[in-house]
Amino acid sequence: MTAPHPGADRAAARRSLEGLALGDAFGERWFPLFRERQRAYAEIRARITPPELEWHWTDDTAMALAIQRVLDERGAIDQDRLALCFALTYDADPARGYGHGMHMLLPALLAEPESWRTLAPGLFEGGSLGNGAAMRVAPLGAWFAADLDRVTEQAVLSAEVTHAHPQGIAGAVAIAVAAALSVRSELSVAAVAEATPVGPVRDGLARAAELPFTTEPWKAADLLGNGQRIRADDTVPFAVWTAARHRDDLAAALWSTAEGFGDVDTTCAITAGIVAARTGTGSVPTEWRQRREALT
Ligand SMILES: [Mg+2]
Repeated sequence: MTAPHPGADRAAARRSLEGLALGDAFGERWFPLFRERQRAYAEIRARITPPELEWHWTDDTAMALAIQRVLDERGAIDQDRLALCFALTYDADPARGYGHGMHMLLPALLAEPESWRTLAPGLFEGGSLGNGAAMRVAPLGAWFAADLDRVTEQAVLSAEVTHAHPQGIAGAVAIAVAAALSVRSELSVAAVAEATPVGPVRDGLARAAELPFTTEPWKAADLLGNGQRIRADDTVPFAVWTAARHRDDLAAALWSTAEGFGDVDTTCAITAGIVAARTGTGSVPTEWRQRREALT
């Protein structure tokens, strides 16, 4: 049973979530586990759709689903409830590719959800500055797109439960704002940079805003980072750049993002969550949608 929640753009949030899951599952195909790098590079350049019939989504989508569940129930982020939903989602399937920090944190939150307040800041001496709070947050930005102050406030709340470091939080703010701007047809890298708290994530976005869209995506990834270090500042600028480069074309956005490799399920999840908040997933090849694992 879902409540009405005035002001929420449910349709945009759903488009973003469907896109995020598609990007996650598409991006995952390019990991060396599934195809070695040279073959992956050749197939991406030739735009050859991965032939596997089942594209599983990973932790990015699992955590986005948990956020969506809380928004559906409460209409806004309730942090203790979100901590429990993350823990329940993890417990249902811990083998979705979670990072080290989440393997340490989420089992503890299952027993005591409110302990995120002390446990999250204790991760990695000062809290996680990873890309995990950014990778799951685009649908939240779409949900609150009518009010950008609320987008920022709610993105911070969603991040803090697992990512206490200011740069982990800044990554979430940037991506939530990007998704909201996408819904409003106002997406630009410069506007996202301006809305992001001061620090390395914002600095990276400012560099991305200066990078012409004629730049080859692999080169942009080289200059901006491709998520290989799993940090927010290493992930967010490139993913926002490709989203803005292809803000009306989800398939093109995903091919370009895949060219950057690195943490490719997450960069593709972020880019697709932003672009699809506006476009939906209807324009991608039919087999992409058929092959992507269904949302639970
Ligand atoms: Mg993942």
